[in-house]
Amino acid sequence: MSDKRDYYEVLGVEKNADDKELKQAFRILARRYHPDKNDAEDAESRFKEIQEAYAVLSDPDKRRQYDRFGHNVPGGSPFGAGGFNINLEDILGGDFFSSIFGGGRRSSGGGADIRIRHQVTLEEAYTGTKSELNLDLPTECLSCQGTGAEGGSTSTCGTCRGQGRVRVRQQIGPFISDAVQTCEECQGSGFTHDADCGDCDGIGSVNQPQTIRFDIPEGADNGMVMRMRGRGEPARRGRGQPGDLHIEIMVEEHPWFERSGMDLIMSLPLGYSDLVTGCDVTIPHVDGKDLKISVPSKSNSGDTVTIPRRGMPSNRSRGRGDVIVLLKLVMPSKFSKQDLKKIKEMKQILDGELSIIERMENDAKIRRHSSS
Ligand SMILES: [Zn+2]
Ligand SMILES: [Zn+2]
Repeated sequence: MSDKRDYYEVLGVEKNADDKELKQAFRILARRYHPDKNDAEDAESRFKEIQEAYAVLSDPDKRRQYDRFGHNVPGGSPFGAGGFNINLEDILGGDFFSSIFGGGRRSSGGGADIRIRHQVTLEEAYTGTKSELNLDLPTECLSCQGTGAEGGSTSTCGTCRGQGRVRVRQQIGPFISDAVQTCEECQGSGFTHDADCGDCDGIGSVNQPQTIRFDIPEGADNGMVMRMRGRGEPARRGRGQPGDLHIEIMVEEHPWFERSGMDLIMSLPLGYSDLVTGCDVTIPHVDGKDLKISVPSKSNSGDTVTIPRRGMPSNRSRGRGDVIVLLKLVMPSKFSKQDLKKIKEMKQILDGELSIIERMENDAKIRRHSSS
């Protein structure tokens, strides 16, 4: 835990950076390291690190806690780093996403890639599932074989003589250079036509309902992208390879679980007596079976109970994460006068035999020990 980089260092800002500076630093770094924009191997982990740092520092409560305790919040709260939600679209602006989603990158002269988002539940991500989507996707226009020409009859482009490229003489200051450019007349296809195809308005493709079937692997993570070769936009005017269809998996929020890598994290609010005497709590689990949480007697609020190997499966190896349960003391919102009287009578039992100073010292000792 303590080998984590300092959040301020991650974002490259001063300790006293204000909201505006944080947002700006985040915006620049997120754009640079977004896995869709950056092919480097560590781009994804860098991006996650940046996201986490921003999520904590942009939340005044979490930032105060971080400033005080660093990565080691007393009580070992597993929610220090996990369970954050940032609306990337808000911060990065729509233009960033439209250039990734839907807009499409053109792969070397061929058709553009298409990206769609597909939501699955945590249960579906846990077990893996077969999915089927009905989408309207651009497909090659059959009337013109994708050429965009009425009846498919094209003629060789006169400007580039069918090459699709033209040599252009450019003068930049005193220098004259020859450059090769895509032919504007035929947009690089090498063909022109007189009349546009009536079925596709000369585009060469039409939207058609298609059924896309794909498997979501067990352990599928939020943001996982599945690529289906050749299911993207057809190449313009029928020349070149069609683009790919990218399906981005979005895992829906679960009512109580947060995901931290392969681990599933939840908090379990319990009354004082359950924490003192210990108890067994059985809840339905994402694997379809029951999950039994055994709370030991004399548990503290902030303690964690780990249930090994009931977390998410890995989508890469055969490993499996744990379920980590954070115990919390639940405080009733109402007490009657009689209740308060009863509780006061128990004060000596509830407080324990140590003095307030001894309790403070003990707590500091435990906190410092657990964070080393
Ligand atoms: Zn041309
Ligand atoms: Zn057509």
